Amino acid sequence: MGPRETRSTCPYCGVGCGVLIESDGAQITGVRGDPEHPANFGRLCSKGSTLAQTAARPVTLHSRLLQPLRRTHAGAPTRAVAWDEALDEVAARFGDVIERHGPDAVGFYLSGQLLTEDYYVFNKLGKGLVGTNNVDTNSRLCMSSAAAGYKATLGADSPPCSYEDLGLASTLFITGSNMAWAHPILMRRIEDARRANPRQRMVVVDPRRTETAEMAELHLQILPGSDIALYHGMLHLILWEGWLDAAYIAAHTTGFEALKARVRECTPRHTASLTGLKEEAIVQAATWFAGCDGPPGSPRQPTLSLYCQGLNQSSSGSAKNAALINLHLACAQIGRPGAGPFSLTGQPNAMGGREVGGMANLLSAHRDLGNAEHRAEVAALWGVPEVPRHPGKTALAMFEAAAEGEIKALWIACTNPAQSLPDQALVRRALQRCEFVVLQEAFTTATSPYAHLQLPATSWGEKEGTVTNSERRISRVRAAVAAPGQARDDWRIARDVAQRLQARLRPDWAPLFAYPDAESVWNEHRETTRGRDLDITGLSYAMIEAQGPQQWPLPAGAPAGRARLYEDGRFPTADGRARFADVAFMPLAEPRDARFPFSLITGRLRDQWHGGSRTGTVARLFGHAPEPVVEVHPQDLARLLLAEGDLVHVTSRRGAVVLPVQASDRVAPTQVFVAMHWGEEFVSGQTGNGSAAHGVNALTTTARCPSSQQPELKHCAVKLLRAELPWRLMAMAWFDAAELPRRQAELQALLPRFGFASLVPFGHERGGLVLRAASAEAPEPALLAQVESVFGLDAAVPGVLRYEDRRRQQRRALRTGTVEGAPRLDAFMLGGDGAAQHWMWAMLQSAQAVPGPVHRLLAGGRQPPGDAAPVSPQVCTCLNVNAAQIQAALPRCTGTAEERLGQLQRELKCATQCGSCLPNVRERVRQSMVGVGGV
Ligand code: SF4
Repeated sequence: MGPRETRSTCPYCGVGCGVLIESDGAQITGVRGDPEHPANFGRLCSKGSTLAQTAARPVTLHSRLLQPLRRTHAGAPTRAVAWDEALDEVAARFGDVIERHGPDAVGFYLSGQLLTEDYYVFNKLGKGLVGTNNVDTNSRLCMSSAAAGYKATLGADSPPCSYEDLGLASTLFITGSNMAWAHPILMRRIEDARRANPRQRMVVVDPRRTETAEMAELHLQILPGSDIALYHGMLHLILWEGWLDAAYIAAHTTGFEALKARVRECTPRHTASLTGLKEEAIVQAATWFAGCDGPPGSPRQPTLSLYCQGLNQSSSGSAKNAALINLHLACAQIGRPGAGPFSLTGQPNAMGGREVGGMANLLSAHRDLGNAEHRAEVAALWGVPEVPRHPGKTALAMFEAAAEGEIKALWIACTNPAQSLPDQALVRRALQRCEFVVLQEAFTTATSPYAHLQLPATSWGEKEGTVTNSERRISRVRAAVAAPGQARDDWRIARDVAQRLQARLRPDWAPLFAYPDAESVWNEHRETTRGRDLDITGLSYAMIEAQGPQQWPLPAGAPAGRARLYEDGRFPTADGRARFADVAFMPLAEPRDARFPFSLITGRLRDQWHGGSRTGTVARLFGHAPEPVVEVHPQDLARLLLAEGDLVHVTSRRGAVVLPVQASDRVAPTQVFVAMHWGEEFVSGQTGNGSAAHGVNALTTTARCPSSQQPELKHCAVKLLRAELPWRLMAMAWFDAAELPRRQAELQALLPRFGFASLVPFGHERGGLVLRAASAEAPEPALLAQVESVFGLDAAVPGVLRYEDRRRQQRRALRTGTVEGAPRLDAFMLGGDGAAQHWMWAMLQSAQAVPGPVHRLLAGGRQPPGDAAPVSPQVCTCLNVNAAQIQAALPRCTGTAEERLGQLQRELKCATQCGSCLPNVRERVRQSMVGVGGV
């Protein structure tokens, strides 16, 4: 079959970019941005533009789950089983538990990365057939506070804005979001808007000085968790200055008087003391937010708020969302172009999941479980007698119940709780205690060893359905190639088990799951939306095919979806009015104290996505952040007598992980930062009791918002203690693409045998692996021999040079190939003394000829035998341009900042492809001009 292109959607973040998948019919061969998709108009970020590499054949063969596997107990070896046997077993085991212990003894833990069709079948299976509301998803970790904030104030979980508002706003108020890294394509749209309108202002509220903060005219570096205090303080000023829209408040809202009384005491001085900000900065933020500072007589200038996990992942997340929306209502900054509260969805289909009601407290089409009429409507639509009334267990409560033995069977689909949930010790107790764990997954993940049954699912490029992005736009996801191995679509797996389970539990009911294809599932979902705020009865697969992705609502008869909600000032509440939320400022669930004196903040990296089961297969996506580290302010490092690269135990009340420290003035003193992606696949080792360390979420807390039940993943208290692990190891090698995933899996199994160990891919066109490890003393020789074997450094391999000094616990090995007739370093292991690791790393990565005799490399030491350029962090992932190259080119650039940027782009080609590195390159240009009159 010849080359062809299939129109689909990126599976990563909630921006929901359109992609064109290039394939030869059997294999995905490339991807490019869809120029016609209204979310991205052809652009893709570093993650989206490398999607084809995640579907490469070696990745599919070695990282994907390709057949059903079963094991007798957690950790036991697996054996392949036929699909029918696997489906029968799920139905039998779930049926047994339900009959013995009742429907609430089972739970379904799903994912914001499932398609709407997948979600719909699971939700109906759990709530309609089984009769339990224990159906929840990892969206609970992501957007549930945003949903609760919208409902509490605007009456429905309906983001009111559109991406086009980015270009229409006078002020962008970005709070709790590093958009430059987490939603890069929206940041490209903001850059376009700022070029077109240089008067547009950007305020960024973030405890860290992120790349997004560096772009802002005003960065409010607040103390972690003090957002509500800031918003109340801004409202106090808006009241004091008379910047309210009293007519709007009177006509379209309720509850303002109570809130007014609450913020009376929130003076700038009081707000400054709670937030750590200067009073003038708070005044400036309030002035810009209100938008009344234009020429006399001019209309109020529109303000658009953009927010994400900094507000949501909080023990007061719903209140934070509501307090921000209060500001919009008070100033009528809603329902008009360029204005409104706009939550940025983390996952690609967290919106779709909310639409089908795939959460423990929701029902289809934004209906409420607590509403008897809503339950009756859904029961009638599904053809079941009733839907259970009491809310089910939300994500963390489900795992707590499993750990207590209350939930006995768990079905986990398309998510990796052994990486992403907080308090990993609890998660593992839960998974081990469950009688039966089903894991429905495309990849092999940290959760896989706990599953009694693994069901292979299709993934991006292989499945059909729909997703909804942050701006309520429904796009099609399409299959470009056939499913690999025996993988099946998620909705189909759920359907096939549901049919079996219905035959056992409800044989007398009419068939509930007679879906021939994904479209038939979606059509049933569409019917549930009739008359609701998200009515899509005017939409069809055919319409999306013909007219492209559409925004909801789109009721029958409407020619197109609606770009902006609440333009008429009417809200989906009983009286049609929005409600001010009289919420109190609540401190962090776990403030730092004398025993745990640092605030741990978590967040995203630019080129990684969640637990990395997909992005972790692409070596070039590690160039920007090449190893797991804890970022610490230089003052704190000095105070703790620590130097860059020293290992520390990062310990919270729940667990610990060892990490190298990295000096960073992006974090404030007494705060430290660890990226959320670093699970045990990338960083492990042993804890104090000898068990395996489980990555960053061994530390985080289960404390959660009382309204949304979203955990405070963004913050917990930790202490840092130097790790006394003097014996160091670094091993590194290039691998064939076909070999790398297998070698990675072999090494991952060895990580817990060291005191500390991290394992990360590196490279660009070619890929390799770098293992860093440390122990209190030299590990047993057999373990080092295993490491050498994986890196192709066995004594038997031709060309391997070795050195060993047992008395000094030193062991080194290296292997060379040739480049243009000269030796080139292909692999090495340095055991015992890490002095040479920096130049050996640089020499291997540069692939340059080894200067001088090869055996001299075995001497170790801080100085290389010849010239070896130091390793420089990668800035441009697409074109593999590093910081050193940019710094070397900058002195040759002249003119304005934009002119210098253009010269850099022409010379090095950096920041000319996906644009994810554009803020970083701009900042380097800006820094280079400090002191020469340029800034
Ligand atoms: Fe995918 Fe990047 Fe677009 Fe998000 S911004 S949908 S990760 S291409």
